Amino acid sequence: MRIIVQKFGGTSVASPNVRNLVVNKIVQAREQGYTPVVVVSAMGRKGEPYATDTLIDLARSGYRGIAARELDQIMYCGEIISAVVMTSVLQAADLDAIMLTGGQAGITTDANFTNGRILKVDSSRILTLLKMGKVPVVCGFQGITADGEFTTLGRGGSDTTAAALGAALNAEMVEIYTDVDGIMTADPRIVTNARILDIVSYNEVSQLAHQGAKVIHPRAVEIAMQKSIPLVVKSTFSDAPGTLITNITKEGPEVNVVSDRLATGVTFLPKIAQLKVTLDPATSHTESYKIFKTMADNGISVDLINVHPGQVMFTVHEDVAEKALANLGKQGYQAAVLYDCAKVSVVGGGIHEVPGVMATFIEALSLYDIPILQTVDSHTSISVLVKKDDVEMAVKALHEKFGLAD
Ligand code: ADP
Ligand code: ASP
Ligand code: MG
Repeated sequence: MRIIVQKFGGTSVASPNVRNLVVNKIVQAREQGYTPVVVVSAMGRKGEPYATDTLIDLARSGYRGIAARELDQIMYCGEIISAVVMTSVLQAADLDAIMLTGGQAGITTDANFTNGRILKVDSSRILTLLKMGKVPVVCGFQGITADGEFTTLGRGGSDTTAAALGAALNAEMVEIYTDVDGIMTADPRIVTNARILDIVSYNEVSQLAHQGAKVIHPRAVEIAMQKSIPLVVKSTFSDAPGTLITNITKEGPEVNVVSDRLATGVTFLPKIAQLKVTLDPATSHTESYKIFKTMADNGISVDLINVHPGQVMFTVHEDVAEKALANLGKQGYQAAVLYDCAKVSVVGGGIHEVPGVMATFIEALSLYDIPILQTVDSHTSISVLVKKDDVEMAVKALHEKFGLAD
Protein backbone atom coordinates (compact mmCIF):
# COMPACT_ATOMS: atom_id res chain seq x y z
CA MET A 1 0.00 0.00 0.00
CA ARG A 2 1.29 3.48 -0.86
CA ILE A 3 -0.18 5.39 2.06
CA ILE A 4 -0.56 9.16 1.86
CA VAL A 5 -1.85 11.33 4.71
CA GLN A 6 -3.83 14.34 3.47
CA LYS A 7 -4.54 17.02 6.11
CA PHE A 8 -7.04 19.76 5.39
CA GLY A 9 -6.97 22.93 7.53
CA GLY A 10 -9.90 25.00 8.74
CA THR A 11 -10.40 27.11 5.62
CA SER A 12 -10.21 23.97 3.43
CA VAL A 13 -13.34 22.49 5.02
CA ALA A 14 -15.25 25.70 5.74
CA SER A 15 -18.00 25.62 3.09
CA PRO A 16 -19.75 23.14 0.76
CA ASN A 17 -17.86 24.44 -2.32
CA VAL A 18 -14.48 24.06 -0.68
CA ARG A 19 -15.35 20.63 0.69
CA ASN A 20 -15.91 19.55 -2.92
CA LEU A 21 -12.34 20.66 -3.70
CA VAL A 22 -11.22 18.41 -0.85
CA VAL A 23 -13.08 15.48 -2.42
CA ASN A 24 -11.18 16.16 -5.68
CA LYS A 25 -7.80 16.10 -3.90
CA ILE A 26 -8.65 12.75 -2.28
CA VAL A 27 -9.96 11.25 -5.53
CA GLN A 28 -6.84 12.44 -7.39
CA ALA A 29 -4.58 10.79 -4.79
CA ARG A 30 -6.44 7.50 -5.25
CA GLU A 31 -6.18 7.81 -9.03
CA GLN A 32 -2.41 8.21 -8.63
CA GLY A 33 -2.27 4.89 -6.79
CA TYR A 34 -2.18 6.23 -3.23
CA THR A 35 -4.23 4.97 -0.28
CA PRO A 36 -5.30 8.16 1.50
CA VAL A 37 -5.82 8.79 5.20
CA VAL A 38 -7.62 12.11 5.68
CA VAL A 39 -7.11 14.43 8.67
CA VAL A 40 -9.31 17.49 9.19
CA SER A 41 -9.25 20.62 11.35
CA ALA A 42 -12.30 22.38 12.78
CA MET A 43 -14.27 24.28 10.13
CA GLY A 44 -13.41 27.92 9.41
CA ARG A 45 -11.53 30.60 11.28
CA LYS A 46 -12.20 32.95 14.20
CA GLY A 47 -15.78 34.24 14.05
CA GLU A 48 -17.21 31.24 12.22
CA PRO A 49 -19.68 29.08 14.16
CA TYR A 50 -17.72 25.82 14.57
CA ALA A 51 -14.16 27.21 14.58
CA THR A 52 -11.91 26.44 17.55
CA ASP A 53 -11.73 30.11 18.59
CA THR A 54 -15.52 30.32 18.66
CA LEU A 55 -15.75 27.25 20.90
CA ILE A 56 -13.09 28.69 23.24
CA ASP A 57 -15.00 32.00 23.49
CA LEU A 58 -18.19 30.09 24.27
CA ALA A 59 -16.53 28.12 27.06
CA ARG A 60 -14.95 31.29 28.47
CA SER A 61 -18.23 33.17 28.40
CA GLY A 62 -18.99 31.44 31.73
CA TYR A 63 -15.60 31.98 33.30
CA ARG A 64 -12.49 33.30 31.54
CA GLY A 65 -10.28 31.13 33.69
CA ILE A 66 -12.09 27.87 32.86
CA ALA A 67 -9.83 24.87 33.58
CA ALA A 68 -7.74 23.44 30.74
CA ARG A 69 -9.41 20.02 31.02
CA GLU A 70 -12.86 21.49 30.39
CA LEU A 71 -11.55 23.74 27.62
CA ASP A 72 -10.26 20.63 25.88
CA GLN A 73 -13.69 18.99 25.96
CA ILE A 74 -15.22 21.87 23.98
CA MET A 75 -12.26 22.27 21.60
CA TYR A 76 -12.54 18.55 20.86
CA CYS A 77 -16.00 19.14 19.37
CA GLY A 78 -14.73 21.35 16.52
CA GLU A 79 -12.80 18.58 14.80
CA ILE A 80 -15.59 16.05 15.44
CA ILE A 81 -18.13 18.28 13.69
CA SER A 82 -15.75 18.84 10.80
CA ALA A 83 -14.85 15.15 10.37
CA VAL A 84 -18.50 14.09 10.41
CA VAL A 85 -19.43 16.69 7.77
CA MET A 86 -16.43 15.76 5.60
CA THR A 87 -17.23 12.04 5.92
CA SER A 88 -20.77 12.72 4.81
CA VAL A 89 -19.54 14.64 1.74
CA LEU A 90 -17.16 11.80 0.84
CA GLN A 91 -19.90 9.21 1.27
CA ALA A 92 -22.08 11.26 -1.08
CA ALA A 93 -19.23 11.04 -3.61
CA ASP A 94 -19.33 7.22 -3.32
CA LEU A 95 -16.22 6.90 -1.22
CA ASP A 96 -16.39 4.44 1.68
CA ALA A 97 -15.39 7.02 4.28
CA ILE A 98 -15.38 6.42 8.03
CA MET A 99 -14.93 9.07 10.71
CA LEU A 100 -12.52 8.45 13.59
CA THR A 101 -11.73 10.57 16.64
CA GLY A 102 -8.07 10.97 17.58
CA GLY A 103 -8.49 8.25 20.21
CA GLN A 104 -10.22 5.90 17.78
CA ALA A 105 -7.35 6.49 15.34
CA GLY A 106 -4.97 5.17 18.04
CA ILE A 107 -3.47 8.45 19.29
CA THR A 108 -2.52 8.38 22.98
CA THR A 109 -1.27 11.57 24.64
CA ASP A 110 -0.06 12.68 28.04
CA ALA A 111 -2.52 14.53 30.30
CA ASN A 112 -1.16 18.01 29.58
CA PHE A 113 -4.57 19.47 28.68
CA THR A 114 -4.68 22.00 25.79
CA ASN A 115 -1.09 21.12 24.87
CA GLY A 116 -0.96 17.33 24.94
CA ARG A 117 2.06 15.48 23.68
CA ILE A 118 1.57 12.35 21.59
CA LEU A 119 3.06 9.39 23.45
CA LYS A 120 2.02 6.57 21.16
CA VAL A 121 0.17 5.91 17.91
CA ASP A 122 -1.41 2.50 17.43
CA SER A 123 -2.07 2.37 13.71
CA SER A 124 -3.67 -1.09 13.65
CA ARG A 125 -7.28 0.09 13.35
CA ILE A 126 -6.51 2.46 10.49
CA LEU A 127 -4.51 -0.24 8.70
CA THR A 128 -7.42 -2.68 8.97
CA LEU A 129 -9.79 -0.04 7.57
CA LEU A 130 -7.41 0.75 4.70
CA LYS A 131 -7.20 -2.93 3.79
CA MET A 132 -11.01 -2.96 3.62
CA GLY A 133 -10.84 -0.12 1.06
CA LYS A 134 -12.17 2.52 3.44
CA VAL A 135 -11.12 6.17 3.63
CA PRO A 136 -10.52 7.08 7.30
CA VAL A 137 -11.38 10.69 8.13
CA VAL A 138 -9.51 11.42 11.35
CA CYS A 139 -10.19 14.37 13.67
CA GLY A 140 -6.98 16.37 13.83
CA PHE A 141 -5.70 18.12 16.96
CA GLN A 142 -6.90 15.48 19.43
CA GLY A 143 -5.94 12.42 21.38
CA ILE A 144 -6.89 10.48 24.45
CA THR A 145 -4.93 9.72 27.61
CA ALA A 146 -4.33 6.19 28.89
CA ASP A 147 -7.14 6.96 31.40
CA GLY A 148 -9.61 7.90 28.69
CA GLU A 149 -9.43 11.69 29.07
CA PHE A 150 -9.88 13.75 25.89
CA THR A 151 -6.97 16.04 25.11
CA THR A 152 -5.91 18.46 22.38
CA LEU A 153 -2.42 18.93 20.96
CA GLY A 154 -1.88 22.71 21.09
CA ARG A 155 -3.20 25.31 18.63
CA GLY A 156 -2.51 24.35 15.04
CA GLY A 157 -2.10 20.74 16.18
CA SER A 158 -3.93 19.02 13.31
CA ASP A 159 -0.62 19.20 11.47
CA THR A 160 0.88 17.18 14.33
CA THR A 161 -1.86 14.55 13.99
CA ALA A 162 -1.10 14.22 10.27
CA ALA A 163 2.66 13.86 10.81
CA ALA A 164 2.21 11.39 13.67
CA LEU A 165 -0.14 9.21 11.59
CA GLY A 166 2.25 9.49 8.64
CA ALA A 167 5.12 8.28 10.81
CA ALA A 168 3.12 5.45 12.38
CA LEU A 169 1.75 4.26 9.04
CA ASN A 170 5.09 4.65 7.21
CA ALA A 171 3.34 6.92 4.74
CA GLU A 172 5.06 7.80 1.50
CA MET A 173 4.14 11.45 2.03
CA VAL A 174 2.15 13.80 4.27
CA GLU A 175 0.30 16.60 2.50
CA ILE A 176 -0.74 19.69 4.47
CA TYR A 177 -3.49 21.46 2.53
CA THR A 178 -4.15 25.08 3.46
CA ASP A 179 -5.15 28.44 1.96
CA VAL A 180 -1.72 29.49 0.61
CA ASP A 181 0.33 27.90 -2.18
CA GLY A 182 3.10 26.79 0.18
CA ILE A 183 5.56 28.04 2.77
CA MET A 184 6.57 31.55 1.89
CA THR A 185 9.44 33.85 2.77
CA ALA A 186 7.03 35.76 5.06
CA ASP A 187 3.36 35.72 5.97
CA PRO A 188 1.67 36.90 2.74
CA ARG A 189 -0.91 38.74 4.86
CA ILE A 190 1.91 41.16 5.76
CA VAL A 191 4.36 40.97 2.87
CA THR A 192 2.50 41.03 -0.42
CA ASN A 193 5.56 40.12 -2.53
CA ALA A 194 6.57 37.14 -0.37
CA ARG A 195 7.89 34.23 -2.40
CA ILE A 196 6.96 30.53 -2.26
CA LEU A 197 9.81 28.28 -1.18
CA ASP A 198 9.71 25.20 -3.39
CA ILE A 199 12.04 23.06 -1.28
CA VAL A 200 13.16 23.55 2.32
CA SER A 201 14.77 21.41 4.98
CA TYR A 202 13.00 20.17 8.10
CA ASN A 203 15.40 22.29 10.15
CA GLU A 204 14.61 25.51 8.35
CA VAL A 205 10.87 25.00 8.59
CA SER A 206 11.06 23.93 12.20
CA GLN A 207 12.90 27.19 12.98
CA LEU A 208 10.43 29.26 10.96
CA ALA A 209 7.52 27.59 12.76
CA HIS A 210 9.05 28.01 16.23
CA GLN A 211 9.67 31.69 15.49
CA GLY A 212 6.02 32.25 14.56
CA ALA A 213 5.30 31.15 10.96
CA LYS A 214 1.88 29.69 11.69
CA VAL A 215 1.63 27.87 8.36
CA ILE A 216 2.74 24.58 9.97
CA HIS A 217 3.11 23.35 13.55
CA PRO A 218 6.76 22.86 14.57
CA ARG A 219 6.02 19.53 16.23
CA ALA A 220 4.65 18.18 12.95
CA VAL A 221 7.94 19.03 11.26
CA GLU A 222 9.97 17.40 14.02
CA ILE A 223 7.93 14.18 13.92
CA ALA A 224 8.20 13.91 10.12
CA MET A 225 11.94 14.59 10.34
CA GLN A 226 12.48 11.70 12.77
CA LYS A 227 11.26 9.26 10.12
CA SER A 228 12.34 11.32 7.09
CA ILE A 229 8.78 11.42 5.77
CA PRO A 230 8.41 14.13 3.11
CA LEU A 231 5.93 16.85 4.05
CA VAL A 232 4.29 18.91 1.32
CA VAL A 233 2.49 22.17 2.17
CA LYS A 234 0.09 23.14 -0.62
CA SER A 235 -3.20 24.82 -1.38
CA THR A 236 -6.63 23.21 -1.53
CA PHE A 237 -7.63 26.05 -3.84
CA SER A 238 -5.05 25.58 -6.61
CA ASP A 239 -2.93 22.99 -8.39
CA ALA A 240 0.36 24.65 -7.45
CA PRO A 241 3.02 22.08 -6.46
CA GLY A 242 3.54 23.61 -3.00
CA THR A 243 6.57 23.41 -0.73
CA LEU A 244 8.44 20.15 -0.25
CA ILE A 245 9.96 19.79 3.22
CA THR A 246 12.73 17.23 3.26
CA ASN A 247 16.39 16.65 4.00
CA ILE A 248 17.25 15.98 0.42
CA THR A 249 17.78 18.42 -2.41
CA LYS A 250 16.99 17.77 -6.03
CA GLU A 251 20.70 16.98 -6.48
CA GLY A 252 20.47 13.88 -4.34
CA PRO A 253 20.46 12.51 -0.82
CA GLU A 254 22.43 13.83 2.12
CA VAL A 255 22.80 17.33 0.71
CA ASN A 256 21.35 19.60 3.32
CA VAL A 257 19.44 22.47 1.75
CA VAL A 258 20.07 24.63 4.80
CA SER A 259 23.74 25.14 4.28
CA ASP A 260 23.83 27.56 1.38
CA ARG A 261 20.82 29.79 2.07
CA LEU A 262 21.60 32.92 4.05
CA ALA A 263 18.02 33.87 4.84
CA THR A 264 15.02 31.61 4.34
CA GLY A 265 12.28 33.79 5.74
CA VAL A 266 11.13 36.48 8.15
CA THR A 267 8.73 35.64 10.97
CA PHE A 268 7.34 37.19 14.12
CA LEU A 269 5.92 36.16 17.47
CA PRO A 270 3.38 38.61 18.92
CA LYS A 271 2.18 39.11 22.51
CA ILE A 272 5.47 39.27 24.31
CA ALA A 273 6.27 41.10 27.53
CA GLN A 274 9.77 42.23 28.47
CA LEU A 275 10.78 42.02 32.14
CA LYS A 276 13.73 43.89 33.60
CA VAL A 277 15.08 43.42 37.13
CA THR A 278 17.74 45.73 38.55
CA LEU A 279 20.14 44.05 40.97
CA ASP A 280 23.12 44.83 43.14
CA PRO A 281 26.12 44.22 40.82
CA ALA A 282 28.05 42.59 43.67
CA THR A 283 25.54 39.76 44.10
CA SER A 284 23.80 39.73 40.74
CA HIS A 285 25.16 36.36 39.59
CA THR A 286 23.55 34.49 42.48
CA GLU A 287 20.45 36.68 42.27
CA SER A 288 20.00 35.97 38.58
CA TYR A 289 20.10 32.24 39.27
CA LYS A 290 17.29 32.74 41.82
CA ILE A 291 15.24 34.68 39.26
CA PHE A 292 15.46 32.04 36.53
CA LYS A 293 14.94 29.22 39.04
CA THR A 294 11.71 30.94 40.15
CA MET A 295 10.54 31.08 36.53
CA ALA A 296 11.40 27.41 35.98
CA ASP A 297 9.73 26.28 39.22
CA ASN A 298 6.54 27.99 38.08
CA GLY A 299 6.60 26.51 34.59
CA ILE A 300 7.16 29.87 32.88
CA SER A 301 9.28 29.71 29.74
CA VAL A 302 11.62 32.60 29.18
CA ASP A 303 13.20 33.89 25.98
CA LEU A 304 15.54 36.70 24.87
CA ILE A 305 17.70 36.48 27.97
CA ASN A 306 20.37 39.09 28.85
CA VAL A 307 22.27 38.83 32.10
CA HIS A 308 24.59 41.70 33.05
CA PRO A 309 26.16 42.71 36.35
CA GLY A 310 23.39 44.77 37.92
CA GLN A 311 20.60 43.77 35.55
CA VAL A 312 18.63 40.78 34.27
CA MET A 313 16.34 41.12 31.30
CA PHE A 314 14.14 38.49 29.64
CA THR A 315 10.83 38.04 27.86
CA VAL A 316 7.76 35.90 28.55
CA HIS A 317 4.48 35.39 26.73
CA GLU A 318 2.02 38.13 27.69
CA ASP A 319 -0.45 35.56 29.07
CA VAL A 320 1.99 34.57 31.84
CA ALA A 321 3.48 38.02 32.54
CA GLU A 322 1.27 38.63 35.60
CA LYS A 323 2.19 35.23 37.01
CA ALA A 324 5.89 35.95 36.41
CA LEU A 325 5.65 39.34 38.16
CA ALA A 326 3.77 37.85 41.11
CA ASN A 327 6.36 35.11 41.61
CA LEU A 328 9.25 37.52 41.30
CA GLY A 329 7.47 39.72 43.86
CA LYS A 330 7.27 36.76 46.28
CA GLN A 331 11.06 36.46 46.02
CA GLY A 332 11.45 40.18 46.75
CA TYR A 333 12.15 41.38 43.19
CA GLN A 334 10.39 44.33 41.58
CA ALA A 335 10.48 43.89 37.82
CA ALA A 336 9.80 46.65 35.32
CA VAL A 337 7.52 45.34 32.61
CA LEU A 338 6.98 46.41 29.02
CA TYR A 339 3.87 44.93 27.40
CA ASP A 340 2.89 44.89 23.70
CA CYS A 341 6.17 43.68 22.28
CA ALA A 342 6.91 41.21 19.50
CA LYS A 343 9.92 39.17 18.44
CA VAL A 344 10.84 39.54 14.79
CA SER A 345 13.28 36.99 13.34
CA VAL A 346 15.22 36.33 10.18
CA VAL A 347 15.70 32.57 9.86
CA GLY A 348 18.32 30.94 7.64
CA GLY A 349 20.67 27.99 7.80
CA GLY A 350 23.65 29.97 6.49
CA ILE A 351 23.16 32.99 8.72
CA HIS A 352 25.93 32.21 11.23
CA GLU A 353 28.66 31.89 8.62
CA VAL A 354 28.26 35.28 7.01
CA PRO A 355 29.85 38.41 8.49
CA GLY A 356 27.80 41.57 8.62
CA VAL A 357 24.39 39.97 8.93
CA MET A 358 23.62 41.78 12.17
CA ALA A 359 24.68 45.07 10.56
CA THR A 360 22.29 44.45 7.66
CA PHE A 361 19.54 43.58 10.12
CA ILE A 362 19.98 46.75 12.15
CA GLU A 363 20.34 48.90 9.05
CA ALA A 364 16.97 47.64 7.78
CA LEU A 365 15.23 48.68 10.98
CA SER A 366 17.05 51.98 11.34
CA LEU A 367 15.88 53.01 7.87
CA TYR A 368 12.37 53.10 9.31
CA ASP A 369 13.35 54.40 12.77
CA ILE A 370 12.22 51.21 14.46
CA PRO A 371 13.62 51.06 18.00
CA ILE A 372 15.24 47.72 18.93
CA LEU A 373 14.49 46.76 22.52
CA GLN A 374 16.65 43.63 22.66
CA THR A 375 18.47 41.24 20.32
CA VAL A 376 19.39 37.58 20.27
CA ASP A 377 20.97 35.32 17.71
CA SER A 378 21.42 31.60 17.28
CA HIS A 379 22.98 29.27 14.75
CA THR A 380 20.02 29.67 12.40
CA SER A 381 18.31 32.92 13.31
CA ILE A 382 18.67 36.54 14.37
CA SER A 383 15.84 38.08 16.36
CA VAL A 384 14.95 41.45 17.80
CA LEU A 385 12.30 42.61 20.18
CA VAL A 386 10.24 45.55 18.92
CA LYS A 387 7.02 47.28 19.91
CA LYS A 388 3.82 45.72 18.55
CA ASP A 389 3.10 48.74 16.36
CA ASP A 390 6.44 48.36 14.58
CA VAL A 391 6.08 44.66 13.71
CA GLU A 392 4.63 44.94 10.22
CA MET A 393 7.13 47.55 9.13
CA ALA A 394 10.02 45.56 10.61
CA VAL A 395 8.96 42.36 8.79
CA LYS A 396 8.60 44.24 5.49
CA ALA A 397 11.93 46.05 5.90
CA LEU A 398 13.85 42.86 6.73
CA HIS A 399 12.20 40.93 3.90
CA GLU A 400 13.30 43.62 1.48
CA LYS A 401 16.80 44.09 2.89
CA PHE A 402 17.59 40.35 2.89
CA GLY A 403 16.56 40.10 -0.76
CA LEU A 404 13.68 37.73 -0.14
CA ALA A 405 11.12 39.53 -2.29
CA ASP A 406 9.84 38.07 -5.54
P1 ADP B 1 -4.85 25.96 8.32
O1 ADP B 1 -6.16 26.24 8.94
O2 ADP B 1 -4.96 25.50 6.91
O3 ADP B 1 -3.96 25.09 9.15
P2 ADP B 1 -3.30 28.26 9.17
O4 ADP B 1 -4.02 29.53 9.39
O5 ADP B 1 -2.90 27.47 10.36
O6 ADP B 1 -4.16 27.39 8.16
O7 ADP B 1 -1.97 28.52 8.29
C1 ADP B 1 -2.05 29.17 7.05
C2 ADP B 1 -1.75 30.65 7.20
O8 ADP B 1 -0.42 30.81 7.69
C3 ADP B 1 -1.76 31.42 5.91
O9 ADP B 1 -3.05 31.88 5.61
C4 ADP B 1 -0.76 32.56 6.16
O10 ADP B 1 -1.38 33.80 6.37
C5 ADP B 1 -0.06 32.16 7.44
N1 ADP B 1 1.41 32.22 7.35
C6 ADP B 1 2.24 32.75 8.30
N2 ADP B 1 3.52 32.69 7.92
C7 ADP B 1 3.54 32.11 6.70
C8 ADP B 1 4.58 31.75 5.80
N3 ADP B 1 5.87 31.99 6.07
N4 ADP B 1 4.23 31.16 4.63
C9 ADP B 1 2.95 30.90 4.34
N5 ADP B 1 1.91 31.23 5.15
C10 ADP B 1 2.19 31.81 6.33
N1 ASP C 1 -8.56 23.60 15.10
C1 ASP C 1 -7.31 23.67 15.83
C2 ASP C 1 -6.85 25.11 15.95
O1 ASP C 1 -7.50 26.00 15.46
C3 ASP C 1 -6.25 22.81 15.23
C4 ASP C 1 -5.79 23.17 13.84
O2 ASP C 1 -6.46 23.95 13.16
O3 ASP C 1 -4.74 22.65 13.43
O4 ASP C 1 -5.86 25.36 16.58
MG1 MG D 1 -2.75 25.45 10.84
